[in-house]
Amino acid sequence: MKMRKLLMIPGPTPVARSIQDQMGRETVAFGDSAFVKDFKELLEDLKGLFKCSGETFVVAGTGTMGMEMSIANTTKRGDNVLIVSHGFFGDRFIDLCNRKGLNVDVLSSEWGETVPVEKISEKLSRKKYAAITVTHVDTSTGVSAPVDEIGKMMRSFPETIYIVDGVCATAGEPEYVDDMGIDILFTGSQKAFGVTPGLTMLWASQKALERRKSFRDIPEYYIDFEKWLPIMKEPSKYYATPAVNLIWALKESVRIIKEEGIENRYARHKKFAAAMQAALETLGFKVLAREGCRAATLSNLVYPEGTADAKFRELLAEEGIVVAGGLAAYAGRMFRLGHMGNIDKHDLISVIATIERALYRAGMPVELGKGIGVVQKHLVE
Ligand code: PMP
Repeated sequence: MKMRKLLMIPGPTPVARSIQDQMGRETVAFGDSAFVKDFKELLEDLKGLFKCSGETFVVAGTGTMGMEMSIANTTKRGDNVLIVSHGFFGDRFIDLCNRKGLNVDVLSSEWGETVPVEKISEKLSRKKYAAITVTHVDTSTGVSAPVDEIGKMMRSFPETIYIVDGVCATAGEPEYVDDMGIDILFTGSQKAFGVTPGLTMLWASQKALERRKSFRDIPEYYIDFEKWLPIMKEPSKYYATPAVNLIWALKESVRIIKEEGIENRYARHKKFAAAMQAALETLGFKVLAREGCRAATLSNLVYPEGTADAKFRELLAEEGIVVAGGLAAYAGRMFRLGHMGNIDKHDLISVIATIERALYRAGMPVELGKGIGVVQKHLVE
């Protein structure tokens, strides 16, 4: 009999049946009145849920396109940009900005740590920066950045656009665009929204929209705010073909989020993360991110001494869950476990039980049931 495989990598995440069903619907014209109504409602919901009085863009693409879109619309060749990096995805902005001919300064932390906010503020006071980028949750480290605290500090630097990469956070970690002083927030559909990959969602403040308007044409065509703004205001218009079924799928995901309540969703993510991290520490793994800056959406777990990465993940897959390997210096030393989106208590128990079986089969010392006990205690609290 074929064993079910739980997809527990940090994106794509498990896609709920009702979301998958939207992908299977008969595709209609993008000008279809029912579809246009759905798209409009989705955009309004996205603005409301993430408290954005500016504009929301939903465009076919991935998280990387969100990175590119935010930089393309707020900076021009020769501008200074400050990149705050807590790992691999923070660093991705370096290459992206260098290619655009920007002057890049980088503040990096050790993997598992965050850059202190005072250090960022100090850097910003020394030079005029067109934009700053912060990765809310860096998927390579499982570190969550203090985006709210940084936003408060950013009020002293009104000429700088505050860009937050929410790819591994949005809809799993609290984010309020206006209240947190964020100018651009973006994410991809495949993470905490629990939709298949393929959509970029981007929220832009009035300030970010004005920055774009202050330029004439920008070199980029597909990702130009000015090209998409008329469509986001009136989705019956055409600029480039919208991903009809993905938009329906996202709408269903937003319906699920509203039904759960976004605050409840954030609380659930926090609770699930605490349960998983405690159980995995009991089983001998070390959570890479320092306590106090651990993400609610995924955990990056350093292996106990003597664990063979490839073999362990192969056994895990055989036992029924798929996780991701470590990146860069942590390749072979760590695995990454997503626990975001539309997952429930059943999934948590299955994951820990599967990890226990894989450890046992790998010949590692493990007391079967010990991790499950820890999860159970967290879940009944
Ligand atoms: N930023 C972060 C924090 C990410 O985790 C990822 C993807 N793992 C990206 C950006 C890039 O997104 P995508 O792979 O969808 O292009």
